[in-house]
Amino acid sequence: MKILRRKRSTYALSLILCLAGIAALLATLWKTWPEVSSAKDPFSTFLTLLWTEKLDLIAGLAFKLVYLVVLGDAMLISGIVLLVLSVQRFYLPGKVVWYRCPFCKKDWRSSGDKALVHCPHCRQLIHPIIIEKPVQ
Ligand SMILES: [Zn+2]
Repeated sequence: MKILRRKRSTYALSLILCLAGIAALLATLWKTWPEVSSAKDPFSTFLTLLWTEKLDLIAGLAFKLVYLVVLGDAMLISGIVLLVLSVQRFYLPGKVVWYRCPFCKKDWRSSGDKALVHCPHCRQLIHPIIIEKPVQ
């Protein structure tokens, strides 16, 4: 239960980071768009604006746009990385274990926490024996 909650908070954090990153990048675009859209060379105008334009987030605290872009990128990238990690953990159901059938004594790999399964070798409904084997 604790692990599940931690997964959910990682997932929520990654979404917040993604949204904040996108918001920061959109704010940059929104701030520079009037000049970039009318410039002859939009890309270099955009780059120049990054270093000259300032954003007043809080009164008295000016923030160069370039920092916002860097921050936005960093948040977006770490958000995506966290998202991928948390989604992977969501869909990988626990650890993979080896089961042994008590009837035919054959082994197979499956994800954990199964009390009753059909043996893939002899098709009997069995309580599998969980054995430890290094993952190959
Ligand atoms: Zn079997």
